[in-house]
Amino acid sequence: MLIDSHCHLTSGELIPRIDDVLARAHSAGVTEFVTIATDLEDARRALELAARCEGIHVVCGIHPHESGKACDGWDAALDELVRREDVYAVGEMGLDYHYDFSDHATQQRVFRRQVELAAEVGKPIVIHCREAHEQVLKLLADCPRPPNVVFHCFTGSEAEARQILDRGYWISLTGVVTFKRADELREVARQVTEDRLMLETDSPYLSPEPVRNVRPNEPSHLVHTAACVARARGISLAELSARTTENTRRFFNLPRR
Ligand SMILES: [Zn+2]
Repeated sequence: MLIDSHCHLTSGELIPRIDDVLARAHSAGVTEFVTIATDLEDARRALELAARCEGIHVVCGIHPHESGKACDGWDAALDELVRREDVYAVGEMGLDYHYDFSDHATQQRVFRRQVELAAEVGKPIVIHCREAHEQVLKLLADCPRPPNVVFHCFTGSEAEARQILDRGYWISLTGVVTFKRADELREVARQVTEDRLMLETDSPYLSPEPVRNVRPNEPSHLVHTAACVARARGISLAELSARTTENTRRFFNLPRR
């Protein structure tokens, strides 16, 4: 049994056929889902979906790509949302200096405010970090600390992984770890501290090998990533699944079933 610790079930590519997507996930042994809402509108859609379907847990925040579009009063609205019992974390949030869809000052301001909010309400945060490793670590060090911090879709170097783990943060791996040229990332997968590792699809993006050409990606494909990480760590798929499932439950403080 697996939990997809980061997917976007409300994305336009998945929501029109969500019942089939969830049925295929269940057949593959992926029975719970942390769906990430990337702005306030998306949060309403995610909460609606979670109310209708079993096993869906909502996280909401302002994605760095959306930070330029955050309206006046966004932080008060988000504050209200993340205090809800059925919202498990704040995110995804962070800095994306690769696409640069929002200017750096705005990204930093919106990121910082969300870290403060999470620390205030005592909920974990989900970090999106692209070509901004140093800046993200620095900002986190300057802010009050939320209970748990995960670098989602980690694709950095061994040295960057080490810095993240040394600070007590978590690492979550996507299908990128299965890609042919991802030897260094598989080395990271081997080394991540056992109790701070999670797995995710980041659906609808980043389909893993051997279904890399299948679009959109969906939670059922998590099994390929799990098999790859189990091989890298030299343990059975069952053992790896039990561990990452338990980790995900603990990170987000998900209800025990
Ligand atoms: Zn995401």
